[in-house]
Amino acid sequence: MTKKYTAKCACGAVKFEFDTDPTFIAICHCLDCKKASGGEAATFFAVPEDDFTLISGKPKAFHYIANSGNGLDRNSCPECAARVFTDNLDGFPGTVFVQLGSLDRPELITPKLEMFTRRRLGWVKPLDLPQFENMPS
Ligand SMILES: [Zn+2]
Ligand SMILES: [Zn+2]
Repeated sequence: MTKKYTAKCACGAVKFEFDTDPTFIAICHCLDCKKASGGEAATFFAVPEDDFTLISGKPKAFHYIANSGNGLDRNSCPECAARVFTDNLDGFPGTVFVQLGSLDRPELITPKLEMFTRRRLGWVKPLDLPQFENMPS
């Protein structure tokens, strides 16, 4: 049986699903997210690892040390290189951070906060959401 939320990379080789309605849903303007996404910000949300089911594909994990000093594994499709989720983030055991754009229905999940707003570029207007200069504490 399919879970509530389904997601895949751009080519469809990597597929995963989960049931959890996420509560931590962030637009992150940090430099790492800029570099990794190629855009001004990344939108992602937290899903418990034990609800996260990989259906197909073998995501390629790239271990990376963020500006914060925390290690993490950035997972992308080995075929199309789309970035799909992050796991093994230091300080967040048992949590997978899913990239919003990987969802089959991204309109189902809306951001709850903006973070690292000190890195937001001048042409981006704040949304009507809680704003955090750095990480939310
Ligand atoms: Zn792919
Ligand atoms: Zn970030």
